[in-house]
Amino acid sequence: MNKITKWFNRVLDIFYVKKCVACGELLTYDHEGHLCPKCEDEWTEAKELLCEHCMEMQKNCRCGFGRQYVDGVRHLAIYDHDEHDYITNRIVYALKKGGFVEIFDFVSEEMANELVEKRMLQNAVVVNVPRNPKSIKKYGYDHARKLAVRLADRLELEYVDFLRHSRSKTEQKMLNKEQRDLNAKANCYARQKYAPKIKGKTVLLVDDIGTTGAMTGACASLLHRHGADKIYCILAAKNK
Ligand SMILES: [Zn+2]
Ligand SMILES: [Zn+2]
Repeated sequence: MNKITKWFNRVLDIFYVKKCVACGELLTYDHEGHLCPKCEDEWTEAKELLCEHCMEMQKNCRCGFGRQYVDGVRHLAIYDHDEHDYITNRIVYALKKGGFVEIFDFVSEEMANELVEKRMLQNAVVVNVPRNPKSIKKYGYDHARKLAVRLADRLELEYVDFLRHSRSKTEQKMLNKEQRDLNAKANCYARQKYAPKIKGKTVLLVDDIGTTGAMTGACASLLHRHGADKIYCILAAKNK
């Protein structure tokens, strides 16, 4: 996005002009949903792809998540590192950089639709996988937190701001699998004052994208340690 487009988008946002959250195309006022027809088609197709590793439907795929950690994982679609312009990538990118105002509405709605077994959410609270403070500083917000708050609202559940990430210079993407697990464990901590809100509860753990599952694992083990009964993880995307 060049400077003029960026500026123009800001102006449109001020007037609440509706735009496709994945490509920025203008939508008509009576347009239903947050995607333009082209992105809608691509997104529907992306959600129907099978996991390349286990050949399961994406909603049943648990690749990268240890069974010992979470009781269930759902993700909406696959993120493809090699295809910058892939629909899922654009959606994750918009979450991270906050490109389009309604991106959080869109993704939280998609997540809520995915969580059809409402019974499993009885007695549940919503928690997010925390961001590195360095990245919060860079983008101005923690997008997983924003998403979790919006999702909790939609599901009429309580959001608990329970987990934090300590200041860390080591980026997860620079490490191998084993180092990632250790690094994630070392950096993730719980806010004790909220511990009573976790004990005996089902926790819905929210994140944008699960890379190796290291952060999810670290969060889940903290939640277990604080007496969470069951942990379900919901992600916008999963790495190919
Ligand atoms: Zn679009
Ligand atoms: Zn899989």
